[in-house]
Amino acid sequence: MQKILGRLFGGSCFLCRGAAGALLCAACDADLPRLAGPRCPRCALDSPRGEVCGRCLSDAPRYDATVAVLAYEFPADALVHALKFRGELALAGLLGNILLQGIDALSVDRVVPVPLSAERLRARGYNQAVEIARAVMPSKLDSALCVRSRDTPAQMDLPDAERRRNVRGAFRCTRDLAGQSIAVVDDVMTTGATLNEVAAALKAAGAARVVNWVVARTFPQS
Ligand SMILES: [Zn+2]
Ligand SMILES: [Zn+2]
Repeated sequence: MQKILGRLFGGSCFLCRGAAGALLCAACDADLPRLAGPRCPRCALDSPRGEVCGRCLSDAPRYDATVAVLAYEFPADALVHALKFRGELALAGLLGNILLQGIDALSVDRVVPVPLSAERLRARGYNQAVEIARAVMPSKLDSALCVRSRDTPAQMDLPDAERRRNVRGAFRCTRDLAGQSIAVVDDVMTTGATLNEVAAALKAAGAARVVNWVVARTFPQS
């Protein structure tokens, strides 16, 4: 593996181009904005005592828990962006490994990546969530379990308030999941609207518990 990475990246750090034995040098790795401190177990936003936050109490999401390992700020955003839009697929292994440090991979029955629309998958050639999920837990990866039942405009192009409506009913499950515990993997969680709809589809198929495993979390401006 090191040999392959060395060939791809010439033994230099993806971020600072300094000498590195892996994708990132030790200094850049240490600089990653890892999330620390108490968070809401349900949505992974800050919560002073690590209790379920007010938002989740007043408007409970369909997912049961969220684990996010990085804040979506520099340089985590640069890594996610390069994986998503520049085809730097080796970064999926790096981000998947960081995610693995925050989750209990044995606690779920299946791992499901957030699906892309067929159209976007054709244009991009890969789904970054599948690539990250593959790095996290290949033996439980089930990329055909959840599909987009209709195409939707990209969430990132929409204001927060419209995101929920945009993805409502956009996903469906292809199998019965009675009593199962499912992890949903994505690169970035912003409003959680997409993950909420995926969870709704999984629960409609019988899933008992749905947890989100996301590499990076954005935080609402308040
Ligand atoms: Zn570096
Ligand atoms: Zn919350």
